[in-house]
Amino acid sequence: MTTAVVAVGGNAILKRGQLPTMDNQLQNLRSISKHIAAMVSGGYNISLSHGNGPQVGDILLQNEAAKYEVPPMPLDVCVAQSQGMIGYLFQQALTEELETIRCQRTVLCMLTRVIVDPGDEAFSRPSKPIGPYYTAAEAEQMELSTGCVMREDRARGGWCRVVPSPRPVEIVEAAPISRLICSGRDLVIAAGGGGIPVVRQDGRLVGVEAVVDKDLASACLAKGMKVDLLIMLTDVDGVYLEHGSPRERLLGEITADEAERYLREGHFYAGSMGPKVEAAIAFVRAGGRKAIITRPELLHTALSSKAGTQIVNR
Ligand code: ADP
Ligand code: MG
Repeated sequence: MTTAVVAVGGNAILKRGQLPTMDNQLQNLRSISKHIAAMVSGGYNISLSHGNGPQVGDILLQNEAAKYEVPPMPLDVCVAQSQGMIGYLFQQALTEELETIRCQRTVLCMLTRVIVDPGDEAFSRPSKPIGPYYTAAEAEQMELSTGCVMREDRARGGWCRVVPSPRPVEIVEAAPISRLICSGRDLVIAAGGGGIPVVRQDGRLVGVEAVVDKDLASACLAKGMKVDLLIMLTDVDGVYLEHGSPRERLLGEITADEAERYLREGHFYAGSMGPKVEAAIAFVRAGGRKAIITRPELLHTALSSKAGTQIVNR
């Protein structure tokens, strides 16, 4: 059996412009699940991860809006809530699809912690956009009323709250997740939203307020579990050079060295394709067989190397 960590992008769960309702997210998760269920029945043991950018920002907003009635929860607890919320919807959608094609797996959702370094510079430089997008005037009002940090994202055409995003060091639950998926009976949803960030303090693990990048966390989990493949599903066919220009071209199979060169040349945005390529490089250099970046609809074809961008360590 081939083993894989499959990371599903927040943009695939909630498409741009869609309202973050349960129905919208469930419907998107159902169409993604069709492709994942087919992969599982084709002979793969997998652990799934997912993004939480829009959702964790919304949970934070709910906490702030109700702060005089219910004490607000810190960001690490909001990340845990987002793992439960998205994990449950994913579990429902995937279970239905697996039953439809008579593939016998139990879908489990694991609250997953990720260890980060308390000295990570990211803590003093918030960079990860979460929650809804605002106009400049709304963003200023938000900063004044909540004390949060807002930043403009020209690509998405608006202002967004940004929070610290330290690098993942280790996934605490990697070993049990590995045991579960290797049994061939279970499919695990883990490391959702990049994992719940914790730091080691006096021999204990203590939650910290941050949101870890889900692609880097997925690579960390994939390395910890020593799986064969790391697959990142998003809303583009694969990785492009000169993306968005009339000269853009899709990359097929590339080596980690080539990917690193393009990364240095600035072909990938820091907040979107950058971390995926970085995650792919880290994974194959640590001994992973291959990393694939594509959209859910091309998953099947990409698994036979006929679509998507494939990053190998040759
Ligand atoms: P996800 O939610 O899947 O992590 P992101 O928005 O973070 O999605 O990353 C996917 C986006 O990266 C694409 O929608 C695309 O607009 C953007 N992108 C930036 N640079 C590139 C590139 N070089 N090739 C392909 N997509 C790119
Ligand atoms: Mg992303």
